[in-house]
Parts: sequence; C-alpha cells; structure tokens
Amino acid sequence: MTRVLKIGGSILTDKTRDAAARPLEITRVAEEIASSPADLVLVHGAGSFGHIPARRYSLPENFSPAGLLMTHQSVVRLNDLVVEALSKAGASPVPVHPLSCTLLRDGRIEALAVEPVREMVRDGLLPVLHGDVAMDVSRKAGIVSGDQLVPCLARVLGAEIVAVGTDVDGVLLSGNPLAEMTRADLPALAGALKGSSGVDVTGGMKGKLLELLDLADGGIGSVIFNASKEGNISRALQGEPLGTRVRGLT
Ligand code: ADP
Repeated sequence: MTRVLKIGGSILTDKTRDAAARPLEITRVAEEIASSPADLVLVHGAGSFGHIPARRYSLPENFSPAGLLMTHQSVVRLNDLVVEALSKAGASPVPVHPLSCTLLRDGRIEALAVEPVREMVRDGLLPVLHGDVAMDVSRKAGIVSGDQLVPCLARVLGAEIVAVGTDVDGVLLSGNPLAEMTRADLPALAGALKGSSGVDVTGGMKGKLLELLDLADGGIGSVIFNASKEGNISRALQGEPLGTRVRGLT
C-alpha cells in the first residue's frame, strides 16, 4: 500500500523571508512521519528556499545558468534539513532531487524517472522529493512544484493514500473547510480560490487543487489537510478522513 505525502513549504519555511527554515516545525513533522515511514514517498514544498530565488532570477520566464544553479542549491539546502531531521527521528530517508530525474514540457512533467523511487520504497527507504527547478524541452528550464510531483508519483506508484499538508484546514469557502469536493464544486469556489499568502510562484491552493482534481478524475482521491496541527500528519498517513477530501466525479 503505497502512500504519497506532501508537506507544504508554508509549514517548513517562512514564505515571506528568504531561505528561512522553521527548525522546530521540521523536527515535529519529521517525528510524525517517522512514526509511520513504511511504503511512503515524501514530497516537500520549496517554500521560501525556492520561490524567493526563483523570483529574484525571474524563473521560469528568463533562463540563466546562475538562476538555475542558485535556486536548485537553495532548495537542496531545505531538503538537507528535512532529510537530516527524518534521519534523527529514526526513519531511513534518501534525497531525490527532481532536477536530476524530471523533464518538463511547457512547465508540465513529461518524464519522471520513477524506478529508483519505487526501488527505494521496496527496500524500506523513504524517498524525499521536493519542489525544484527542472529542464524544460520547450523553454530551457522551468519549475516543478511539489504539488505537480504528487499526482505524477501517485499515478505511477498506484498510491492508495495521497495526503497534501498545508497551513490551512483544507479548501476554504467563507472561512470554513469543505469536507469533500469534486470538479463540480469549482465554479462555486471561483471567488474564494486564490494563490498563496506568501511568495509562491506555483499557484497556492488553486494550483494544488487543480492538480488533485486531475488525479481524482483518474481514480485516485486525496486529502488536503492542515499539517501545522500536531497529530494531523500521523492521522493523514493512516488514511483517516480530515481536511478536504478531493474525489472524482463518479
Ligand atoms: P503550501 O506552501 O503549504 O503548499 P500554498 O501557500 O501554496 O501552500 O497554498 C496554501 C495557501 O493557499 C493558504 O495558506 C491560503 O493562503 C491560500 N488560499 C487561497 N485560497 C484558498 C482557499 N479557498 N482555501 C484555502 N486556502 C486558500
């Protein structure tokens, strides 16, 4: 039973400040994950480690070797912190950098070398991917968000649990989380669905939801939940209903 868990950059970093990690949150998140590390692929957002350098170098619109390198090195620093915390908490994490295993076309994942990830899971390891820069066949380089990696991994791995942790209680309508939603609910959400409150070049809740609705239409449901509340990550990993359930139309 493979599970894909995403922890948003809004949990692990302060999205308003350059490369500002939240060490206590990283430790807490790592401990919750380490309590149930089997058959799991972790994706974490890049938060301020990705969005702020990407914006500074005008990625993805303007390609520059320096922008590519600096943005990648910055997100790898956050990944190092997450991997180290997971290791300290007793899990067996391995870093997987999307720059080295993902190819984009027009900003969308065209290819992802998933076999090593599958093998890691089989061998009891916990692969840890993250939002990153990646080569794009149509425009030199682009950005691959954690939110885009999640459905791609979930599809190829046939994930049974897909949980996306962020800093709000789910998809909010008039301040309240929806218990459940499908694509049919999108028009009602049009005015309520916005980007991120911090600096985010990949779409905030709207981007997240559109990715998960596509996944749900393909038969794999997911939850969007509040990972800043202690215990929620452990619950989500057990497949408990919390936050907003995103399901397909049928
Ligand atoms: P993460 O970094 O955790 O992936 P994002 O910042 O990308 O999260 O997206 C979550 C943010 O989306 C929330 O903190 C909130 O500011 C924003 N948002 C905009 N519209 C909504 C909505 N209708 N429901 C919930 N969150 C929303």
